Amino acid sequence: MKLTNTLTKAKQDFKPITPYEVTLYTCGPTVYDYAHIGNLRSFVFDDLLRRSLQLNYKVKHVMNITDVGHLVSDADEGEDKLEKGARREGKTVWQVAEYYSEVFKQDMAALNILHPNGYTGRPDGYARATDFIEQQINMIKLLIDKGFAYQAKQAIYFDVTKLTDYGKLSGQSLADKAVGARDDVVTDPDKKHPYDFAVWFFTVGHFKDHTMHWPSPWGNGFPGWHLECSAIIHSTLGEPIDIHTGGVDHIGTHHTNEIAQSEAAFGLPLANFWLHNEFVMVDGAKMSKSLGNYYRLQNITQKGYHPLSFRLLCLQAHYRSQLNFTWQSLEAAQNFLINLYAFADMQFQASPKQSGELSKFWQKALESVTSALMDDMHSEQALSEIATVINGADALGLLSTRDADELQKFLKSIESVLGLNLASRQDISSDAKALIDEREQARQTKDFAKSDQIRDQLAQEGIAVEDTPCGPRWRRTKLL
Ligand SMILES: [Zn+2]
Repeated sequence: MKLTNTLTKAKQDFKPITPYEVTLYTCGPTVYDYAHIGNLRSFVFDDLLRRSLQLNYKVKHVMNITDVGHLVSDADEGEDKLEKGARREGKTVWQVAEYYSEVFKQDMAALNILHPNGYTGRPDGYARATDFIEQQINMIKLLIDKGFAYQAKQAIYFDVTKLTDYGKLSGQSLADKAVGARDDVVTDPDKKHPYDFAVWFFTVGHFKDHTMHWPSPWGNGFPGWHLECSAIIHSTLGEPIDIHTGGVDHIGTHHTNEIAQSEAAFGLPLANFWLHNEFVMVDGAKMSKSLGNYYRLQNITQKGYHPLSFRLLCLQAHYRSQLNFTWQSLEAAQNFLINLYAFADMQFQASPKQSGELSKFWQKALESVTSALMDDMHSEQALSEIATVINGADALGLLSTRDADELQKFLKSIESVLGLNLASRQDISSDAKALIDEREQARQTKDFAKSDQIRDQLAQEGIAVEDTPCGPRWRRTKLL
């Protein structure tokens, strides 16, 4: 398998540290608001990666849920997002975290995204930042002991000048960053360097009423956002991990700081591979609440689209390309999904009269799909291979009984990576089948009024009947 590694800026052969096993870490959501479709794309990409890896490896996947310490700006400015959410909704921060974590998990389930499976002590598998406070405090102790962190009045800061390779992920050195620094951002005057970042905030100054706080050897407070991922990785997977993922917006600050803390504290690389997915644009513009083009999954389902149509739309773009979301592109993805299901439903329409020549056809298609995914997860190419298979199969009319078995195997194989419910299709009802037979008899006896009437009746049930040289074939016209 080849993957594009942000750290080396090259497409590299992927090799896990332990043979046949992969450790994978994903930065999860900050649960102060609903996830938008840009966030969700990121998790669909992760899921595709995990499923593709699972073709060859056992994958241990950990994802966090940020329920404390993520300030409005990723660079430690402004208030805590959770506190802001609590004030907006007149709830406690714990209620806000609980509510949005639940909605997030529902979105993940609707999109067929596999649960994280690394051990985190929670039945749902997600690692909450607030469950790892002790581990974060232990990491700060190490950083202070090794001279990488220092205590100021407002916070304990990581000293970025102590690392010679700080910024290696983005390729931006401290000197480069300083040129682009904004001086209108208010920073703590006690910081030694503007890029020093907080690993622990004290409940003083504008954080004196912060609801979530814990005792520490240095005083009451709460951890900085970047620290949680490093501490969770250390205690669930251990360094180095094979693959760390996230959105491209994490490269410059969050992932750069994760690397700095972990490597300083433990003296080992944090991850061998760093994979980043691109943004979602809406109608070619950046998504924003003020432009009214800010969507979450519920906005999509309320308009009658299936969540898996959105999943398919995500898979139709390579993860390192921007995805332009439009209602037309979602409509097209939904039609593609209907076609995929019609193709899958061919397994229920096999005929012993057919010759059965198609098994090689599936085999070849499966090889093309797999090789597209093994080459830096080109899901859009894999899908176009599948579209070719569908067109070919369409031209072939009905399947032989043996072909139907082979088709089922093919569907199971591609389903394991695509996650579109292709392998769990159900046959139409026996009543609908009886109607199709009745219509065929009416046609044979040239009773076209009756055959048309039955066709209309079936159409109302969402079943279209097509007459092929091999006999009638049905397809569902609605998603089921
Ligand atoms: Zn993270």
